[in-house]
Amino acid sequence: MPELRQNFLTKEWVIIATERAKRPEDMIVHRSANPVASFVETCPFCPGNESKTPPEVLRVPDGNGSWQVRVVPNRFAALARDIEPTRTIHRSRRTINGFGVHDVVIETPDHAQFTALMSDAQVADVLRIYRTLYIELSHDPRIAHITIFKNHGRDAGTSLEHPHSQLIATPVISQQVRERFQHALSHYDEYGECMICQMVEEELEEQKRIVMTTEHFVAMELFASPTPFCTHIYPRRHMASFGDISAAEIADLARTLRAVLAKLYRGLENPDFNYTIRSAPAECVGVKYFHWYVSVIPRLTRVAGFELGSGMFINTVLPEAAAEFLRQVKLESAVGAG
Ligand SMILES: [Zn+2]
Ligand SMILES: [Zn+2]
Repeated sequence: MPELRQNFLTKEWVIIATERAKRPEDMIVHRSANPVASFVETCPFCPGNESKTPPEVLRVPDGNGSWQVRVVPNRFAALARDIEPTRTIHRSRRTINGFGVHDVVIETPDHAQFTALMSDAQVADVLRIYRTLYIELSHDPRIAHITIFKNHGRDAGTSLEHPHSQLIATPVISQQVRERFQHALSHYDEYGECMICQMVEEELEEQKRIVMTTEHFVAMELFASPTPFCTHIYPRRHMASFGDISAAEIADLARTLRAVLAKLYRGLENPDFNYTIRSAPAECVGVKYFHWYVSVIPRLTRVAGFELGSGMFINTVLPEAAAEFLRQVKLESAVGAG
């Protein structure tokens, strides 16, 4: 029987189409892998081409006069940081000029690297850079919300091969983020607890959708996962803002995120994916009702008319089966799997 499930956090319904159900292994990508060179002369992110990017914002040096991670403004930025945000309201039309920040984090000098195959220390360097940028921008009174995300592969929206992620800081909070906060706040008002703390505790009791656990994090499939293998990583400690992550938690998140990406890489043969860090808007740092997390979304299916027309997704892979499949994918340096 098919089943409709409701996402506890967003209240969105999803159709888990068990009649059309696919085995998790049916989602394997089977794409011919083109070998990629470690250095590409025309790539603006490769070492030696630093002059092809806008002036650097931040770097992690490699100890030999070069860099391990670089942050630069996006050359084709969606928003511009050097203007003051001004709001205008004219009859039914509202606008703000295009103030905002759009930075690129170049994660490694190696053009051919994948996050899934990096060392945990390299991933931790990238996460520390995210935290530095996040905290700095949270203090800017013009910034309302910060989104950190990675697009890997064409189906995830990138054409640039060189490993990179991005940060966009906006002067407004989107309707989608606002609604999630309102749900979390009403839940807290009604039950006196953070709905994510509650959900993680229940999932740990049930175990069915857990992919892996570490000292500080829990990686799991969502009960009402909108798409196959959508995997969330939650900190066990209640924190509203990603900026509150501790040094020990950064190291542990690096291990957990890399292991989840490596399980997807090995299990589904390097699928395109996005990940995003969903954190409290700058004005909500420290609140008791929201809990930040990382959402990893493999791009295995396409959004079609039904999804666009109804806002409802059809997922053909049972979240419990996806979790079981990912638990079984063995990694060379397994970190607290299971
Ligand atoms: Zn490159
Ligand atoms: Zn919480």
